Amino acid sequence: LRRHVLKARKLEAVEQMAAAISHEIRNPLTSAIGFIQLLREGSIDKEKENQYLSIIKTELKSAERVIQDYFTFSSPNTNITETISIEKVLQEVLDSYHLMSSLQSIQIKTNFLNTLRVVGDEQRLHQCLVNIIKNAIEAMNSGGILTVETESVGEKVFIRIKDTGIGMNQEQIDRLGEPYYSTKGDMGTGLGLMVSYSIVRAMGGTIHVESKEGAGTCFHLTLPGVKVHG
Ligand code: ADP
Ligand code: MG
Repeated sequence: LRRHVLKARKLEAVEQMAAAISHEIRNPLTSAIGFIQLLREGSIDKEKENQYLSIIKTELKSAERVIQDYFTFSSPNTNITETISIEKVLQEVLDSYHLMSSLQSIQIKTNFLNTLRVVGDEQRLHQCLVNIIKNAIEAMNSGGILTVETESVGEKVFIRIKDTGIGMNQEQIDRLGEPYYSTKGDMGTGLGLMVSYSIVRAMGGTIHVESKEGAGTCFHLTLPGVKVHG
């Protein structure tokens, strides 16, 4: 049984998320600094020292994950509008996950048929696609196929990012894009898709998710396209 959900969630603009996210980064950093101060006080036995060091490492990793999901782009407050080749950005993202994918026995297939460009901030679009593709790879721990396709119909660009991973049930699909919703415990932030949905919405596009537990997931992105000149 296939499940379809059209996402029309009202989300804050990317700019308005900055405050919440910086809070998410500041918390683990403050904690790490606290433990470093404890270490510097000396007279701590080896066991406690190791314990503190591992907490520091965990906190720093957690801050790093938030940054990975949100801050690939350097300028969250500017509104750059460029004419972007979706295929170029998708290829860059796939190239950066090439090693990780092959280590996880994931085969990557692409079929780029779109002839239009999209308008927006390329770094943000890159971040948006990273977050969706990273989830697809993470859903295929024991291998699978990642299929990335583009196509244009009329003035619209269609992007499909499909995995053969663990899939989701209806309740999970309905919660996608909700801040801090994650099923990955300490390994997740629950911020990745919130960021992706905001970016697509800001570009005037939509995301539609199809998924089946144990079979896989397909993210369908639709963006307004423009003709290439020259
Ligand atoms: P995170 O990856 O940090 O958990 P995200 O916002 O990126 O946060 O994703 C939220 C949740 O959506 C994930 O924890 C997972 O449960 C679910 N999810 C997203 N993409 C997929 C996918 N391709 N396959 C299965 N589950 C997914
Ligand atoms: Mg994620």
